[in-house]
Parts: sequence; C-alpha cells; structure tokens
Amino acid sequence: MTTSTTANRETMGFQTEVKQLLQLMIHSLYSNREIFLRELVSNASDACDKLRFEALHNEALYEDDSDLAIRVSFDKDARTLTIADNGIGMNRDEVIANLGTIAKSGTREFFGKLSGDQQKDANLIGQFGVGFYSAFIVADKVSVLTRRAGEQADQGVRWESDGGGEFAIEMVEKAARGTEITLHLREGQDDLLAGYKLREIVKKYSNHIVQPILMTKEEWKDGGYVTIDEDETVNQATALWAKPKSEITDEQYQEFYKHVGHDYDDPLAWSHARVEGKAEYTQLLYIPKHAPFDLWDRNARHGIKLYVRRVFIMDDAEQLMPLYLRFVRGVVDSADLPLNVSREILQESKDIEAIRKGCTGKVLGLLADMAEKEPEKYATFWKEFGQVLKEGAGEDFANKDKIAGLLRFASTKADSNEETVSLKDYIARMKDGQDKIYYVTAETFNAAKHSPHLEVFRKKGIEVLLLSERVDEWMLGYLTEFEGKPLASVAKGDLDLGALADAAEKQEQEKQADEFKPLTEKIKNSLGDKVREVRVTHRLTDSPACLVADEHDPSGNLARLLKAAGQKVPVSQPILEINPSHPVVTRLKGEEQRFDDWAAVLFDQALLAEGGQLDDPATFVKRINQLMLDMGS
Ligand code: ADP
Ligand code: MG
Repeated sequence: MTTSTTANRETMGFQTEVKQLLQLMIHSLYSNREIFLRELVSNASDACDKLRFEALHNEALYEDDSDLAIRVSFDKDARTLTIADNGIGMNRDEVIANLGTIAKSGTREFFGKLSGDQQKDANLIGQFGVGFYSAFIVADKVSVLTRRAGEQADQGVRWESDGGGEFAIEMVEKAARGTEITLHLREGQDDLLAGYKLREIVKKYSNHIVQPILMTKEEWKDGGYVTIDEDETVNQATALWAKPKSEITDEQYQEFYKHVGHDYDDPLAWSHARVEGKAEYTQLLYIPKHAPFDLWDRNARHGIKLYVRRVFIMDDAEQLMPLYLRFVRGVVDSADLPLNVSREILQESKDIEAIRKGCTGKVLGLLADMAEKEPEKYATFWKEFGQVLKEGAGEDFANKDKIAGLLRFASTKADSNEETVSLKDYIARMKDGQDKIYYVTAETFNAAKHSPHLEVFRKKGIEVLLLSERVDEWMLGYLTEFEGKPLASVAKGDLDLGALADAAEKQEQEKQADEFKPLTEKIKNSLGDKVREVRVTHRLTDSPACLVADEHDPSGNLARLLKAAGQKVPVSQPILEINPSHPVVTRLKGEEQRFDDWAAVLFDQALLAEGGQLDDPATFVKRINQLMLDMGS
C-alpha cells in the first residue's frame, strides 16, 4: 500500500505480520543480539549461491566479476555497519516482496496463536525464522542498496526503514551488482564498531560460510588497533560437509545448520556421510528440534540444498527427500550430476533416485538409532514430527516396516495422552493367546480413552492403542500388520477374542443371544434403517449399548472425518450391540408403552459415546426428559 510519493521515492506500509514480527524480534531476541550478523551473512551467502546457479546458464551475469565474496565493514564516525555482497541482488519488485512482506503461508495464524508470554520466548520467534528483520535488533535505521545481476546500473534500488510501520523505496544508480546493507546502530551498540569484535562474531557464527567473508586487516600497535589497507578473509570459507568428520566440531555442525535450516535453534540430530557406490555423494542431513509453523503445508519449502562438486545448484530440491520427511534440512553434494542440472532433469535422474533412497535410509536409520539409544530425544522428535512421519506408512512402501517400527501410540497401558508406546512394546506385553494388535480410533483422545468398545479389553487386561489424530485413520488404511500380527479395530466386525475368550464365557454368550433374540428383533423393527442389525454384545461391561462398523465398512470415526472434509461417504449402517447384563437393557425386555423412545435413546447414546453427532438432538433431549419423568412417577 503506497502512502506517499515524491519524485521517485515512495513510502509503503509493511504487511501487518512484518510489523508484528519486528516488534517481537526486537524485544525477544535482544539478549542474543549478535545473531543479526549471522542472518545477514547467511542471506549474502544465499545471494551468491543464487547468482552462481543462474550464471550456470548465463555467464554474462558475472559482469566480469566472478569472485563472489561478502564484505563486513564499519564506520565509527557515522556509527554504521555494512554487510555487502556481489551476489544476485534484487530488483524493485523483489525488494518489496522480500523486505516488505512475509510470503510464507500460515504466518497470520502463527502470530494469532502466540500468547503474550510466548511472544517473549526467543525460541518461538526463532522457529519462525529470524532473517533479515533481525537487523533491527541493533539498528534503528536500515538502508539496503541493491541491484540485480544483469540489470543496467540505473536499476539500483534503495530501501530504507526505521523498523516502524513503513519503508521507503527509490530507484538509484548502483554500479556494482549485489546488495549492501547498512545498519545505523541504536544507542548503546557502539561496541560493535570494532574490528576485533566483528571478527569474533563472524568466526563464531559464520565460519562455515563457503564464500570468503572479507574485512579490512588490522594490527595491534602501541596499545591500539590500526587498519592496514589490505583485505583479510575472516572465516574458513570451505564447504563444511566436504571436510572429514573428525575435523568438524559439534559447534560447527550446529552453526552450519542455522544457515542451511534457516533456524534459530540448534538441531536435534544430524548425519554426515560420504557415500560411494551406484551414486557418489556427500550428505549432511539435520533433524530440527522444532517443527516449523508451516509443517502442515505440504507445499512449503523443502529443506535440502543440492550441490554438485561443491557448486550450489538449488534450494529446496524436493526430489531428494520424500514428502513425509519434509522436515529434514541439510545439504547433498553429488559427484555425478552435470552442473547444468535442472528441476526437470532431477525428476528423471537415476542418480537422484539413488540419492533419495540413500538419504531416506539414512534418516530412518538415524531415527531408529535415536529411538533405541536416546528415547527422551526421540520423544521430542516424535512430539514435533510424529504426525508427519505417520504419512510415511502409506507413502513409502519400501520402508513400511522401518517406519512402523518408529511409530508411537497412546495406549490404555500408558497414563497420559502422549504417544509413547511402540508396536514392539505392545507385542512384547501381549496376553497369552492374543494374536492381534488392538486399537480404537476417535476424534479426540478422551473419546478414544473412554470409548465403550474398550470395556471388555479393560476387564481382561488387554492393551488397546488409542488413536485420535487425523492422520491415523489414513495411516491405518496402509498399516495393517506389524511383525506378523494384524492390527484390528475394537469397533469393527464381530468381536473375536480368539483364544482370549474362555469356553464357559462362549457358552454363556450363545445362551444370551438366544434369550435376547426377541428383544434384538424388536429394537431392529423400531429403529428400522438406522441400523443394519441389532445383536447382543460381549464387548461391554458398563455401557448398555455401542455401535460397531461392519468388517469392511469405514469406521464411524473415519466416516465422520471424511464428511467433515466435504467428501461423499457411502451410507453405511452401523450395527447396534446391546449389553445383556445392563439393567437398562434387561428392563427394556418388559417395556411396552415407551419402547420406541427407549430404543431410540439407546441408539443415540451409543452414537454420542463414540464421538458422533445426533441428527436430531432436540428430540433426543425431549425423550430423555420424558423418560426421567416416567421414572419419577
Ligand atoms: P530467508 O533467508 O529465510 O528467506 P530472510 O528474512 O533472511 O529470510 O530474507 C528474506 C529474503 O530477502 C530472502 O529470501 C532473499 O530473497 C532476500 N534477501 C535478503 N538479503 C538478501 C541479499 N543480501 N541479496 C539478495 N537477496 C536478499
Ligand atoms: Mg535468511
């Protein structure tokens, strides 16, 4: 939105989310203010990578200057710091889009959800990605001068803002391509106007950057630093992943992650390996500690950078990682691919297929290892990314068993709603004679935990997995067995406990089925098409009735999910099962006058108990009131 224009200078308002982010950033990240330099250097490095990539197809973009570098300088008198690069640069539209808005989808929701306390939490803001706006932690005015590679010198753009609600933009001359960011420091930030201090920060946070980070040389003389008219490379300026593991410290791995992962926090784990064989490549893959806020956006940016023999090729190479591992960040450096590889070529490349297979295996291996050796760490991982990993059970047939081994569930044997039980744990404590892995699905954890279908399992001490995430029903369509044990819903088909039911019980059940036949027939007549069948059950101990789906029908929960998602669901009639030992049911045997009301209430409460919604709640309430009055009289 343009608010004012003079000659070629325009003032524009930041997108609302940017204003919010600026405020949060300045306050929550102040105690770690040095990271602004890491972010600006990281952007400068990305800009050099992008130029290198575009120049693969268009050499002229180098404008006779292909030595890509980043320069950090300061001016004590003007109280400014400048970070300059000769990377890709930006044109006017790009400046407005990149430095005036946050394009990532889901930002609005993310900010909306942050409570007052959370807004002060650096880690939460960090999750969002800190980026360019972190300059305002130390500066009260930021000036960006940039020109896109390949444009004329008069196509330079100056962007300026004090971090309030607006920025100004104008077209200017800029001879050299690339970007120069000048920070006018806030009061009290003057300690940053010193070469040794800046060197220290660069070494600490940006040592791994591949391009040289240049500063003017300084020497200690007569109790002070004097500048020498000579450039000096402050960082190591080599590809971290190309070095042997033994020469890389944990801190170096962590700092590099912040650059490639665009994250503020340390990673949870990483795997670094050189692979030789069908495809030759090096991979350095990271598992983040936090899910990004756009994790559920399956189109969101993918986190793998592709290099070919240390030359940056592209960001977000989605072919390198399956969708269900979209949270993995890092670098793959191929020795085989041609430098001019395009996204189209990637889709068909056999090398890429081999790399993807290898990387997938590495990540699953890393997770399996973590699950075994560092269960607490794995629990953190699961909390953040478990729901995404579940997608893998259906997406990655070849790794189905490995993925199944990584899954965690809530269960009747655990005392919280956290997903902590593995299928292996479950099988290890199966009862004698038990041959299935039982589960129940519902829309919420509480609905699952209190499902009437669990009653007989509780009585017999049989563990049941409690599934209440949206992705669970979908996953169960693919995950049908684990280590030879079928997964079985407790709310579907005939309850066949197999060897778990004893002979005396079975006899008793057959007797009851006969005895209640007239009643079940009468209820079926009364309910008509609402139910496929009414039968006596042995699933229940406390509840009078429950609904069961036929073996091949979708469960009630799945039908409701599909309906909520706007999908057409074939009408499948549930089976109403009644508990012959429940007083309400035995009483019904003798009921004449209000039989239809009783039958309807029995059906409706069974539907409610499994988390369903009544077609006609008002009539249900009326019936309940009437029956209560009857009892009183
Ligand atoms: P991110 O790096 O995660 O994309 P940033 O906030 O750090 O987010 O940067 C926003 C965008 O601004 C970058 O994606 C890039 O397009 C642009 N940008 C920032 N700094 C530069 C630079 N030095 N040269 C070119 N483009 C830049
Ligand atoms: Mg950035």
